[in-house]
Amino acid sequence: MINENACALGSNRSVIRELFEYGRRRAAEVGPENVFDYSLGNPSIPAPPQVNDAIRAVLAELDSLTVHGYTSAVGDFDTRRAVAEDLNARFSAGAKPEDLFITCGAAPGLTAALQAVTRPGERVLVVAPYFPEYAVFIAAAGAQMDVVPACKPTFQIDLKRMESMIAPDTAAVILNSPNNPSGVIYARAVLERLAEILEAKSRQFGHPIYIISDEPYRELTYGGLTAPWLPHIYGNTVVCYSWSKSLSLPGERIGYVYVPGSAADQEKLIAAVAGAARAAGHVCAPSLMQKVIARCAGVRPDLEAYDENRRMLYDSLTAMGYEMAEPDGAFYLFIKAPGGDAVAFSEKAKQKDLLLVPGDGFGCPGYFRICYCVSPEMIRRSLPVFRALLEE
Ligand code: PLP
Repeated sequence: MINENACALGSNRSVIRELFEYGRRRAAEVGPENVFDYSLGNPSIPAPPQVNDAIRAVLAELDSLTVHGYTSAVGDFDTRRAVAEDLNARFSAGAKPEDLFITCGAAPGLTAALQAVTRPGERVLVVAPYFPEYAVFIAAAGAQMDVVPACKPTFQIDLKRMESMIAPDTAAVILNSPNNPSGVIYARAVLERLAEILEAKSRQFGHPIYIISDEPYRELTYGGLTAPWLPHIYGNTVVCYSWSKSLSLPGERIGYVYVPGSAADQEKLIAAVAGAARAAGHVCAPSLMQKVIARCAGVRPDLEAYDENRRMLYDSLTAMGYEMAEPDGAFYLFIKAPGGDAVAFSEKAKQKDLLLVPGDGFGCPGYFRICYCVSPEMIRRSLPVFRALLEE
């Protein structure tokens, strides 16, 4: 018998993908210059040149069997050492290669981390607005998802609500900062207070409540701001990282899970991450990419193009009267839908070939997301459409 849940998951197309494909069809009909597609978070800054240089160097220097062979399941030692050294240089993290498990990006890292810290039936808290795939990853762990409602208009964390929602069987909290879709970086003071709450609740319920920190946008911050390093604020943090956005390598599938020495049962926990990944069919992350990361762990992206887009959109749209949170990171703006109904507003926008993603799927109705990894020309051409929609 075919598994109905799997079938439903595989057949229900994501709203974002549907929009993106609609945009492609419309571009073929009316010309790409007349479609304003803000749907998909696919990086528009090419990978830094050091990445392609490293690919060429690896191919030139290493034999083909080594480059393309299996690596150990946890990842090449050199890769883990390079990542640990980079974390230590930047955050004084105290990371060791043994604390790292190299994954095929953030998504499988999150899946493994969730399965490592939950038992079926336990609860996982997520903070709205949140990345919709969390629902899928949490269900795969057999756990229940509880959503902390969005804290409007700042999109920080509603700590009172969060505290009241932590139950005896809450095993973990997923945080994502800089945030998709709000672009907000959670403030240090908010995270410190959250850490106090989680420590108290862990004591009260007699087991650790882990933070799973989903950080594919860690390097994508603007205006001199940075996202606080969570393991220093809350020891029971598991970091899920990816180079999909920071080095513009989403199709190459490379990232890691980091379990700091401060985490409760650290050795057991990293073994559980490895075991959960194994159960999901993980064999090893792409070998060539691991060797590239061993040489590029310290490379940072040049974010000038995103920053210009961010400022142009934020300044123009707020001047028109649109309202949104300060977009300090990632490459998204999360905007209050005029009229209050984001689905209806996005549908009206779609009639004008302006493709916006309603916030409903992120657990935050009434807002829509735009992704600004697009060309500045597209932004300029789309501004009159935003204005016309507001005037309607
Ligand atoms: N988490 C968030 C918040 C994301 O936005 C994404 C991708 O867009 C992912 C995880 C998945 O990242 P990856 O492509 O590295 O699996």
